[in-house]
Formats: sequence, C-alpha cells, structure tokens
Amino acid sequence: MKYLELVKIYEELEKTTKRLEKTEIISKLLKKTSKENLPIIMLLIEGRLFPNWDEREIGVASRLVIKTISIASGIDAFRVENEWKKTGDLGLVAENLIKTKKQRTLDFQELTIKKVFTNLRKLAELEGAGTVERKVQLVAELLTSAEALEAKYIVRTVLQELRVGVGEGSIRDAIGWAFFPSKFGLRYNKKENKIEVDNLEEYNKYANAVQKAFDVTNDFSVVAETAKTKGIGGLNKMKLSVGIPIKVMLALKVDNVEEGFERCGRPAEVEYKYDGFRMQIHKKNDDVEIFTRRLENVTNRFPEVVRCIKKYVKGKEFIIDSEAVGYSRKTGDYLPFQSISQRIKRKYDIERMSEEFPVEVNVFDVLYYEGKNMLNEPFKERHSLLNKIIKKQPKEIIIAKSLTTSKNKDVEKFYKEAIHEGNEGIMFKKLDAPYKPGARVGYMVKYKGQQEGVDAVITRAEWGQGKRANWLSSFTIACIDEDGNFLEIGKVGTGIKEKTEEGVSFEELTKLLNPLITSEEGKEVKLKPQIVIEVEYEEIQKSPTYDSGFALRFPRLIRLRNLDKKPKDATSMDYIKKLYEKQKK
Ligand code: ATP
Repeated sequence: MKYLELVKIYEELEKTTKRLEKTEIISKLLKKTSKENLPIIMLLIEGRLFPNWDEREIGVASRLVIKTISIASGIDAFRVENEWKKTGDLGLVAENLIKTKKQRTLDFQELTIKKVFTNLRKLAELEGAGTVERKVQLVAELLTSAEALEAKYIVRTVLQELRVGVGEGSIRDAIGWAFFPSKFGLRYNKKENKIEVDNLEEYNKYANAVQKAFDVTNDFSVVAETAKTKGIGGLNKMKLSVGIPIKVMLALKVDNVEEGFERCGRPAEVEYKYDGFRMQIHKKNDDVEIFTRRLENVTNRFPEVVRCIKKYVKGKEFIIDSEAVGYSRKTGDYLPFQSISQRIKRKYDIERMSEEFPVEVNVFDVLYYEGKNMLNEPFKERHSLLNKIIKKQPKEIIIAKSLTTSKNKDVEKFYKEAIHEGNEGIMFKKLDAPYKPGARVGYMVKYKGQQEGVDAVITRAEWGQGKRANWLSSFTIACIDEDGNFLEIGKVGTGIKEKTEEGVSFEELTKLLNPLITSEEGKEVKLKPQIVIEVEYEEIQKSPTYDSGFALRFPRLIRLRNLDKKPKDATSMDYIKKLYEKQKK
C-alpha cells in the first residue's frame, strides 16, 4: 500500500471533528487493507510504531528533525527553525518547504507504508556511537523521497504528534464496523451524524468481543488481524499473556461514604488507599516483571520486589495488581509518594536505593493465575484467591488492608484509621464486579475526603520577569477530549516554589519544559503537551477564554504526575463537565 493513500486518510480525519465520521473513515480503510498490511495500519493510524505495551521509543527530538528537513529540502536549518517558530508544527514546515523544492532527486522512490514503518522503527533500535547521524540519515532518506503531504505526516509520526484526533474508541469501533457489518446491518448516516443498526443485540455482542480482545492484548494490531481472519470466535479466544502489561483499572471518585455504597452496592469491600505507585506484577516460572501504571517496565529498579514475589507468592504463572508504598526504615511509617518517586527514574545504585527507600507491596487484585484469566471473575473470588496465594510479610508484601461491610459507620471508622496510618483515603470495591482494564467504570471508587484535583497537561507557559527571568512561569493547562485533543482550561502560577528543596519549583518545571518548546512569541512559549501536573482549584466556571469552554478558578499546583501519568491519562473533558454539573447542584 502506498504511504500516500494513508496520508489522504490522515487528511480526511484531520478535517472532521465528528467521532462517528472518523470511525467510518477508519473502518473503510481497514476493510480494504490487506492482511499483511493490517498490523502496520493499526499502528500508523494512531501515529504509533509500537503497541501500547511496548516501551520502545523513537527518541528523535525537534532539533534533529529540523536538520533532516534542511537536508531534504535544501533549505538551511536556520530558516527551517524560523518557520517552525511561526507555526509550532514541524509537520507543516516540512510540507511547505518540501513543496517549494524544485525537483526530485534521482534516487526518488515511491513510499510504501512498509518502507516508512520499517525506517521509523529502526530509529528505536539504534544505540551507541553514530546513533544521531544514523537517525538523521534514516529520516532524511524518507523525506527526500516524500511528497510534501507525506513529509508532513512522516515528521509528525517521528515526533509522536499525529494531530488527527483519533482516539482508542474510534479505532475499536472501526474494527467492528469493518469486519462484522453484514451481521448486524450497520449504516453510518453522515447527514445526521448517527449510526443505524438493524440488530442491536448482535452489534453489542461483537463490539464487546472487540473490546474484550483489546483488554487482554492491549494491541489493536492483533485484534484487527484476528477479527478479519478468525471472526468473533477468534476474538473470544484471545488471552492474556504473562509479560505483556495490560491497562490498569481506574477508580471513580466519590465525595462521601453513602455515595461509595451507592456505586458499589451493599455490602462492599473497603480497602486502604495507599499513597504509592501502581505496580502490575507478572511472573512466569522464575521471571518476574514489574510494570508501572504507564506500562513502563521497571523490573530492574526494584530487585527487592522481584525477590519477595518469588519468595512469598505461591504459583508458577500469575499477574497481580498492587500499590508499592515507601516507608521509613527508622520509624516504619509510610512515606508520601514523592519520597520514593526517584526510584522509578533511577538507573544506577539500585541496591543502595532499595536500602534507603524501601517499598512495601500492597496487593489488591489478581488478573491471571496458573493459566486462568481472572478478569471476568467477581472481585470477591479474586480477593479470596489472593488470600490463598500470598504469604503476608509486613514491610515486604501484604494484601491491602480491607473490610467487607454494609454499614456507613464501619466505613467511617475504617476511613479514620486509614488516614491515621498515613494513607490517602479508602477505596470501595464492588464485590461482584469484573476487572475492566483501562476503564473508570465505578467497580472501584476512591474516597479521599477532600476535594479532588484534576490532572492537566501543560501546553503553554511564559518566561518570568525580574529574578524569575530565566524561569518559565504562568503555565497554561489543558484536559483531554475523547479524540485525544488537549483543550485548555486555565493558567497556573501558584503552588510552585522558588526553591527546589521546598517542593516542585520553577527551576524544576523549566528544566522539564524547556526541551518541549515548539514555538516562541514574545514571552510566551508553546509546548509539546507532555508534562502532567495535578492541580486543585476553587471552582469550575464556564469561560469563553479557553477553547474547552471552561476555566478553573484559582488553580494551584499540588504535584507533578509525569512519572505515573501520560498526557492521554489527563482528566477528560467529560469528567470536567460532570464536575461542573455536580458543583451546580
Ligand atoms: P489519585 O490521584 O487519587 O491517586 P489516580 O488518578 O492516580 O488517583 P485512580 O485510578 O483515580 O488513579 O485512583 C486509584 C489509584 O489508587 C490506583 O491507580 C492505585 O495506584 C491507587 N491505590 C492505592 N491503594 C489502592 C487499593 N487498595 N486498590 C486500588 N487502588 C489503590
């Protein structure tokens, strides 16, 4: 398949904001894609080169791309950079500059999706001396052969910013629409922007099968391939694989105990909400692997956890879900997340770090055990299995402290104990609920007592004045809509410290954000949306100032969330709307 065909689809997708229309466009593409090309298309359509669970990264910064555009267009790098400062989108710059290039080189060859995909994947595999030159060469080779429009999307894919607004929901639905339509008579009515289905029951059955297959594989390429070649029977047979992380189930938030019971029913289980970080732990024979909530493999940072899993958890093959919490060796007290966060990043002195900043693993779920998928088992069964397989060792591994009850009073007492012992709050768990990967469906809910902050991505900032002249300050923040667009909701200037010892400082934020600057105008800089922060606020208001239509009043930074959250994990616009409605009441 020619890359240009895919590029035309990107252009179509970019033109519409309607989710159903995007789904229709993708489903048409999938229908005509060959079996061989399908896995590649499933990744490229999202601007990816690797599936969700795969950690490999292209690692090409804007500077390098400027160099490749310069080589391919014959225009000097200084001018390329100037153009970039005007638009903030190197994709557009590549398009415009390559358009003006007078003639194609002799070694011009038509690009196929395979060629583009293979070259770009190679970027992630390069290591050692000469890596930078080789990367420039690989991208420049593509750009030299590319037409202007192709260059736009090659550059955007390299920078991992496709900007065509395709969310996971559209891709999931498109797989169903592409491969099963005759079964349920599905039509997209473009004029009214709605779908019409003859047999809704059948439709839902297939849609669920696609979703479940994605839940266990975390990989649209294998799901689409299976849907095309083996149909619903194949999808239903898809399995979890030990060693491939799946998305973690997320929690809704409640404001009081009564609401917790409303969500999870009576009786419900309540558990301590530990203030650490999520660890999804996989074991197969002697191999243990640890993944964060962002699905990063951090196994080698936590040798003591690997040892304790082998020692205290019974079973050859399993996947468990837990929260690792730091504690003080001196007092035994739990420490807040910030104090152990450095262990996630640390690449050396690992054993010393595990001595100085030990963690206790608090297990709260089991997703797979000895060949059996546990996702669809009710929570109470999963929990009772945990009790059978874990030999509790306080300060190494325990099962999250819990209580099953129907009484508000019991929960209130339990909540007080949780807070007294240094935890963030409590979780409610619905006893008969399955485990829904990646979903915030209310099978578990959190109760933290105080108002909850939102997780927002920094999209713009301003250079400060006077003694803050070298620091970025006044950070514009955004939430995410269902198609992955970042919509701005406010500006944060408070909660950030002058000195790094006091907490998150202007200096620290500047260091993180400086490499992400995409354009500058006067004091204002535009940023690649990458850094997630947690922000609290007084109130949410409707506002014409920001493109989301909402504004946070008096937002204040609470903490950085860039280690455990990706930009796409930012608070959704739907949730902001819900918070707004709730507040009105
Ligand atoms: P928060 O900012 O409140 O920690 P979050 O956005 O990180 O929330 P949520 O899914 O909203 O994530 O809240 C649940 C998180 O709480 C889980 O991701 C997990 O890391 C943590 N946690 C701590 N204790 C438990 C527990 N007993 N059961 C489930 N999750 C727990």
